[in-house]
Amino acid sequence: MPTNAKQTSRREFLARFRTVPATHSDQTEDVIRPPWARDIQAHCTGCGDCAPVCPEGIITFDGKNHPVIDFTKGECTFCGACAHTCAEDVFDQPTGIPWQLDIAVAKNCFAENGIYCRSCGDVCPQFAIRIPPQLGGRARVIVDEDACTGCGACLSACPANAITISPKKEQALG
Ligand code: SF4
Ligand code: SF4
Ligand code: SF4
Repeated sequence: MPTNAKQTSRREFLARFRTVPATHSDQTEDVIRPPWARDIQAHCTGCGDCAPVCPEGIITFDGKNHPVIDFTKGECTFCGACAHTCAEDVFDQPTGIPWQLDIAVAKNCFAENGIYCRSCGDVCPQFAIRIPPQLGGRARVIVDEDACTGCGACLSACPANAITISPKKEQALG
């Protein structure tokens, strides 16, 4: 992520996108689609053009050759290249809120089991993760939802594979 983006708060980050509401319909699926994507099922032709332009290499494809984000490969920098490249009516202009995602930390987190680890907090460009110590040598991973942009940097950094990122539940049910 560019240095200036790393130093912004989520409020500042999202302020860049305030002109368009977050109405991406494809966030109702279980998989994570590229930021600003909507109507993938209706309009994506499976041409594959969005993946090679992603500088982070995090766009893969599902069984219909529709794009899916794979955070195990890296983080989204919100560069907008995927949206700009798509020739179909799949993406909103990359000027709105990019997506609504949830982050969860599983019980096998090293820090929460008394093993020193701060990897997720160290890589978070938004400083959205705190890992305060608890009694008994353990620590607790706390994600500030207001600060988190859903970039995914923490997921691939986790040595325990304890972090999952998914579309927000209320949208998934919508
Ligand atoms: S916004 Fe940029 S980094 Fe994020 S998925 Fe699209 S092309 Fe990749
Ligand atoms: S997805 Fe992870 S690394 Fe990115 S802002 Fe949220 S907590 Fe930080
Ligand atoms: S990187 Fe993974 S194992 Fe380490 S503190 Fe964060 S969630 Fe826990």
